[in-house]
Amino acid sequence: MTRHSVIPASGSYRDTYYTRSMQPPLGAPLLNGQAEADVCIVGGGIAGISCAYELTAAGKSVVLLEADQIAWGASGRNGGLVLPGFAAETDAIERRVGLERSKAIFDLSTEGMEIFRSYTKRLALPGVGIRRGGIVVSRYRDAKAMQAAAQHKAKAYGYDVEYLPAGRLRELVCSQRYFDGLHDPNGFHAHSLNYCLGLAREVQRQGGRIFENSRALSMTRQGAGHLITVPQGTVACQTVVLCQGGLVDGFDSKMQRSLLPVGTFVTVTEPLGALAQEVIKTSAAIVDTRMSCDYFRITPDGRLLWGSGMSGFAREPANLAQKLKRGFASVFPQLADVRTEAVWSGLTGYTRHRMPYLRELHPGVWAATGLGGHGVNTGPLFGRLVAEALVENGRRHRVFDPFGLTWNGSVFGPLAADTVYFWEALKESCNEWRHGKKL
Ligand SMILES: Cc1cc2nc3c(=O)[nH]c(=O)nc-3n(C[C@H](O)[C@H](O)[C@H](O)COP(=O)(O)OP(=O)(O)OC[C@H]3O[C@@H](n4cnc5c(N)ncnc54)[C@H](O)[C@@H]3O)c2cc1C
Repeated sequence: MTRHSVIPASGSYRDTYYTRSMQPPLGAPLLNGQAEADVCIVGGGIAGISCAYELTAAGKSVVLLEADQIAWGASGRNGGLVLPGFAAETDAIERRVGLERSKAIFDLSTEGMEIFRSYTKRLALPGVGIRRGGIVVSRYRDAKAMQAAAQHKAKAYGYDVEYLPAGRLRELVCSQRYFDGLHDPNGFHAHSLNYCLGLAREVQRQGGRIFENSRALSMTRQGAGHLITVPQGTVACQTVVLCQGGLVDGFDSKMQRSLLPVGTFVTVTEPLGALAQEVIKTSAAIVDTRMSCDYFRITPDGRLLWGSGMSGFAREPANLAQKLKRGFASVFPQLADVRTEAVWSGLTGYTRHRMPYLRELHPGVWAATGLGGHGVNTGPLFGRLVAEALVENGRRHRVFDPFGLTWNGSVFGPLAADTVYFWEALKESCNEWRHGKKL
């Protein structure tokens, strides 16, 4: 029997653009007592909520445990860009698994985008505010490589992106910093926190039970199933799905060894008024080609939402607000005097191969995590693939098999990650110096 606590939720969201424009919080109870379910999902970010939605839609009984509040982690505070692919570059995926499988994996990423888009519409999820388009920009002259990438995507993947030469790009994104771009009309950006809250309400409507402020502490075998313990109760279930993102907390030792939490940083400005149209004359979101990139967009209420940087040390740098402001003012000097209204950071789970994990870790225990910087397409996708696997023995998830668990480097992992980011940034700065002179 489950007793719902009357104690109000104690965790609170960080102050971000998203919390300032969010739908009412879910206000789910904490788990106080014993619950039973076919499936227990650990983690209420976009991956966990998507799994819960698909499984309840397929008739499974589901309990979702969230340590804080729904989408309290990366899913409620990200850049909001929804673009195809994964954190690993296409050519790295091709080298590892060949073109045919790489295409199958890429197609799944666009399926994830389509799930996000179609559920927002079909379920009339409030406040998601989808805006069309995504542009990948280069900070140095890279016309040949960009044109080749566009041709390869069209020919080998059947996916069309439009090459934008510098002149055309700068009509849309008014910065001398950028040279060439690829416009993806299928990309979009949205309010991921409101998507998660809306979908969580649909989970409840379908009979799924969500518990906030209910951290899963331990998991033991119980007969053919599992028993999960939270501070004030337990969940007995057949199957567990781990969706803890970058917020791994020792709950599962395999995940603890295999995921590296990586921090990235975001700010939002005051409303820009007419200035918004002077700097970005497109509804599209923008991301540069660097590994530790800048990603930004104009929000529906006319602010610049600017994200930047990556760090394996998962610490917020001192003077974060000034650093982020210096970053966007160096790209758009027109915005040097604009005020920022909120600044925040978040952690995402990365793997060494930069591809997500979707697999059965132990009998009856699944991992759907390690979503990296493309989690807003991968979360909805993983929900569907997990449900297919658990409900009808579906095998589409097996396409991710070559991307197995890798060691995260333990205490050396953060240093190794930051060394890679530093090295990549150095190479990219050299390219900017050699090929990034004024047109
Ligand atoms: C600042 C930032 C910007 C980003 N920008 C983009 C972007 O523009 N586009 C994009 O596609 N991706 C972006 N990402 C990445 C994307 O947000 C993530 O990949 C995705 O949200 C991860 O979803 P998740 O459900 O796996 O993890 P999370 O959203 O982190 O959710 C995990 C949840 O598990 C809970 N949890 C952890 N341990 C336990 C436990 N023991 N018991 C119960 N609950 C637990 C946590 O509290 C958390 O709520 C960004 C990430 C960050 C941080």
